[in-house]
Formats: sequence, structure tokens, C-alpha cells
Amino acid sequence: MNTTDIIRPKTLNDFIGQQDIAMEVKIALHSAKSRNDAFPHTIFSGAPGLGKTSLAEIIASEMNVPFFPVLGASIRDEEGLRNILSQLPADGYDMQTGQVIVPGKVRYAIIFIDEIHRMKKSLTELLHTALEDFKLSMKIKNPLTGRTQSGLYWMLKFTLIGATNYLGVLPRPFVDRFMIQSCFEPYTEAEIIRIAYHSAKKLKLDITPEAITELASKSRGVPRILNRFLLRARDVAIYAGVTQITLQIVQEMFQIQNIDELGLTKLDRRVLEYLAAVIRPIGIGAISQAVGEDSNTIENLVEPWLVRLRLMVKTQQGRQITELGLQHLGQSNPFQQSIIKL
Ligand code: ADP
Repeated sequence: MNTTDIIRPKTLNDFIGQQDIAMEVKIALHSAKSRNDAFPHTIFSGAPGLGKTSLAEIIASEMNVPFFPVLGASIRDEEGLRNILSQLPADGYDMQTGQVIVPGKVRYAIIFIDEIHRMKKSLTELLHTALEDFKLSMKIKNPLTGRTQSGLYWMLKFTLIGATNYLGVLPRPFVDRFMIQSCFEPYTEAEIIRIAYHSAKKLKLDITPEAITELASKSRGVPRILNRFLLRARDVAIYAGVTQITLQIVQEMFQIQNIDELGLTKLDRRVLEYLAAVIRPIGIGAISQAVGEDSNTIENLVEPWLVRLRLMVKTQQGRQITELGLQHLGQSNPFQQSIIKL
């Protein structure tokens, strides 16, 4: 098992935080299992690294059904989509009629589409009947006439779980077909600390409480970032020839990674410095060009943290640095222009 697999939560009890979502999942799991039915179609939205894939895997494991993960962008055409659906297990079905004949044998598999917003609209439309009635529009060649006919044909029942950070980009009629729609939020510092203890235990690391607190304070409420820092701190400890991860080891790791006392990376500082240089509100495209990084990365990884620390604000006019942001860079407002004090 690789390190990512070791750390990843395996059961709902292991899954820390996101209480509302976990409760909704718990209830739906209980209901689906009692009725011997499929888990409802679900869409998880929220920034990368917040646990969407982990929770989808937990659902599959709690339901004891196969899990087929796929990236939205990799489903190029109708054939690609049908290939994915053709992997579904047919146990318990009469393949001639599509009727369930041995209910105890049926396993309603989970197809997990990560970055589902990257699927073409025409493909999401093809899924409408699959999600609602478990029927799929197909072109089938008639062996007698040799002609190709299209029609709606039955398919195996399944669960679709989609994950995205761009829920608004998905067509509304598609989103409406997901019974559960949950939005993941960044974790509180207390939750991140609990996750850190969990990960450290699974990796059998000796780490002090001060070191954990320091790691958590700079993890942006994102478990994936926390786990990355934890592994880097382990490397620094090994390099230093010590067995315990102490506050000093963590601080050294942050210094090596060029992460400052507020947890800002080089990229965060470049964005902030650019905002300080222009001072007025500015669009994401201009920031992206100026710092040479794609706008998705800036929107998903940089901005949430800068906003949470109140170093910048997002207004209708664009992104703007705050007084706190200027102070962090050790600058004052050069034009005495009215900027936002938070
Ligand atoms: P996403 O799919 O939202 O990008 P992942 O499910 O891949 O995020 O989570 C990234 C990593 O963070 C996982 O490998 C897991 O170790 C950890 N993680 C995420 N959420 C939690 C949680 N609620 N409790 C414990 N660990 C978590």
C-alpha cells in the first residue's frame, strides 16, 4: 500500500469533519442498505484536497460494491461513456430481460467521475435517462436488416458520484438529477489537528503536539496540504537524523519550502505583491498573466487562503489587496487610495 492509501480514511468513523455531509451520507447509506438498493446519485463540490474522493470511496466500501473512478476529461465521446458503463457487474440480473432475478446477488456499483464539470454537455445529456430510469440511448445494428437503429435500452442500475469545484459550470438539468448535492468547506483548525494526529498515527510517526499545531496552522484547512507537510517534515527529521518530529523540525521544513509565518507560499506572495503594485481591483485573468500561473490554480489554491487571512478581498470589480495584505508585505498604501480595511 502506498503512503496516500495508508493515510486515506477508510470508514465513515475515520472521516473527520464535514459533519453535515457525513450525516447525510450516513442516513442515505443506512436507507440504501436496508432497502437493498443503490446509493443515491451524489454530487460533491468543493476545492481540491477536501476529501471528496475519500468519501466516495468510503461509500463504495460501506455499500460493499465495486468502485470505478474516472476523470471527467478522459470521457471523450459516447463510446467512451458506454465503455465505462459496460464495466458494471451484472450479477443477479437476467441479461435477456434486464430483470433482477437474484436480489441478494446484485451489487449496485459506484462510478466516480472526478472533475465532472470537464465532461462535454452532450455527454451529460446522454446520462439523463441513465440516471433517472437506468436506460441508455444506443445505436444498435439489426442483424436481419443490417440497418442501424437507435433506441432507449435498459442498463444495469448503478450510482454516479461526481466531484467538482465548478458546480455552476454544470448544466442545471444534469445537476438536478443528483439526489444528494453537498458542498465541502475548508476544515477548521481543530479538525485539521485531529486529521494530523490520525495521519501521524497511521504513518507511525513520533510527533510533538506543538509540531502538529504548527503544521495545522499553515495547512489552509485542506487535509491534502496537511498530509503533504507532514510527509515533508518526516523527511527533514530523517535527514537531520532524529526520530521525533518537533516544532523545530517543522519550522525548518517550512523554511526550506519557502513558506512564511502566515503560511504563504512563493506563489501566494507573488499574487499579493502584484495586487499591491496595482492597488486597484483587478480581474483574475490579469493576475494569472502577471504571475505566470493558470487562473484555476490561483482561484482554487491561492485566493481562498489570502481571503481567509483577510489579505485580499474579492469584489464585483475584481480582486483587491487589503490594508492587512499591505502590512504583511511591509508596505503602506502608496497612493493613499481608499482600500479595504477589514
Ligand atoms: P479531493 O477528492 O476533494 O481532492 P481527497 O479525498 O483526495 O480530496 O483527499 C485528499 C487527502 O486528504 C486524502 O488522501 C486523505 O488522506 C485526506 N483527507 C481528506 N479528507 C479527510 C477527512 N475528512 N478526514 C481525514 N483525512 C482526510
